Amino acid sequence: DNNKFQAIISHCKEYGFIFPSSEIYDGLSAVYDYGQYGSELKKNIRDYWWKWMTQLHENIVGIDAAIFMHPTTWKASGHVDNFSDPMIDNKDSKKRYRVDHLIEAHADALPKEQGEALLAEMDQLLAKEDFAGLKTLIENNKIKCSVSGTCNWTDVRQFNLMFATEFGAVSGEGDDNMVYLRPETAQGIFVNFLNVQKTGRMKIPFGIAQVGKAFRNEIVARQFIFRMREFEQMEMQFFIRPGTQKEWYEYWKEERMKWHLSLGIPADRYRFHDHVKLAHYADAACDIEYDFPIGFKEVEGIHSRTDFDLRNHQEYSKKKMQYFDNDPGPDGKPYGNYIPYVIETSIGLDRTVMMVLSEAYEEQDLSTAEKADSRVVLKFPPKLSPVKLAILPLMKKDGLPEIARDLMNECKASFRCFYEEKDTIGKRYRRQDAIGTPFCVTIDHQTKEDGTVTIRHRDSMVQQRILLKDVKEMVEKAIQE
Ligand code: ATP
Repeated sequence: DNNKFQAIISHCKEYGFIFPSSEIYDGLSAVYDYGQYGSELKKNIRDYWWKWMTQLHENIVGIDAAIFMHPTTWKASGHVDNFSDPMIDNKDSKKRYRVDHLIEAHADALPKEQGEALLAEMDQLLAKEDFAGLKTLIENNKIKCSVSGTCNWTDVRQFNLMFATEFGAVSGEGDDNMVYLRPETAQGIFVNFLNVQKTGRMKIPFGIAQVGKAFRNEIVARQFIFRMREFEQMEMQFFIRPGTQKEWYEYWKEERMKWHLSLGIPADRYRFHDHVKLAHYADAACDIEYDFPIGFKEVEGIHSRTDFDLRNHQEYSKKKMQYFDNDPGPDGKPYGNYIPYVIETSIGLDRTVMMVLSEAYEEQDLSTAEKADSRVVLKFPPKLSPVKLAILPLMKKDGLPEIARDLMNECKASFRCFYEEKDTIGKRYRRQDAIGTPFCVTIDHQTKEDGTVTIRHRDSMVQQRILLKDVKEMVEKAIQE
């Protein structure tokens, strides 16, 4: 439903969630800025992931590695040689396209069976890296450039997705001066594997988690924060004994799905997609896909990475990446030295924001026989809402603002509150619905008499009288769920 997708994008801009980057200069393609509510929402998701993965799993610790890494890192990881996609340029429009995106977009517009046949053919050619075949496929199907409408294509070529930049002096000292903006956070974990294991006295199995920016020079179709050039990943590498990867892979598939369901999103909005064609580092891999308004798409990847990364870092750095396992093996003797295997869980923070927004967004018709009415409401789980409580004195006089201010002061150190005294109460409620605030509290004249306030619930719009002194505890309880 592309209309819903577009409506969410407009809503995000209008209510201070997400803006195109450097918008006054017409924006920068596939780069976005989070506004006052978007950054709160994103932070709440990040914090929830972090707490769930580290605090609630005693054998997982977190780190925060630098974005810049030694250039050899990316040779060892395979990114210099393998992190590329086949692309094609249109000679007339000078536009560059990822071949798979170009063909997928064309297939989407075809009748179902024809589209599927085209994609199957594409998959085969991609797997064989048959670039001439891919070009022929594009030409035979008369696939046009979306900008110029012509099909005057160059040959298909590989382009690396990493951004390179110069480090230190910029005077043509050759490739040694090149550093990359990391295309994934995982390598910062691998190169620190022994630092953390030794200083933290970690015993296998254990995990290292990290949240941070990653950069990829994606060739994009317009997909909002779904595919960005600068984005944030939340990754965890779980180090295990070789031979146990099947069990741990299954364990993490299930465990990560539990996290997704704990966001209050129903199970039928998700599906697993097992990879048939595996990345260069994996012996099993799947995606968790969510049913976005633009269809089922990947939010998270779970990968059994074997000892690929640690083994390569050992080879390139000439530093041992081994772990000594003192536990007794089947023959009673310790397992001894080995390079651990790794299960990775890798989720995009921005895609998760997009998922939470898509799930929460609802346009409701509230018309009655007397008058037409509607609202847009973001039904976030309270723990993720940017603002938890709106405090609204009914009038700007009679001591009502003072009581409201006292409540604000009581609550604001514990959770995010929003104070507003302008406009009708109905308009104020609507604005809070639009940013997903779960509770509004109204202070009126009765408050002065009996110490009660009206609390209004976002989703049901039900209003109740409760004691002013119970407000804080009620909100705190709701955001812990
Ligand atoms: P895709 O196939 O969609 O390009 P990927 O398989 O390359 O994604 P991974 O390398 O497995 O993605 O990265 C892990 C996660 O990081 C993805 O599941 C996604 O949520 C997120 N991610 C990857 N690339 C981007 C991007 N360009 N913009 C936003 N999030 C991204």
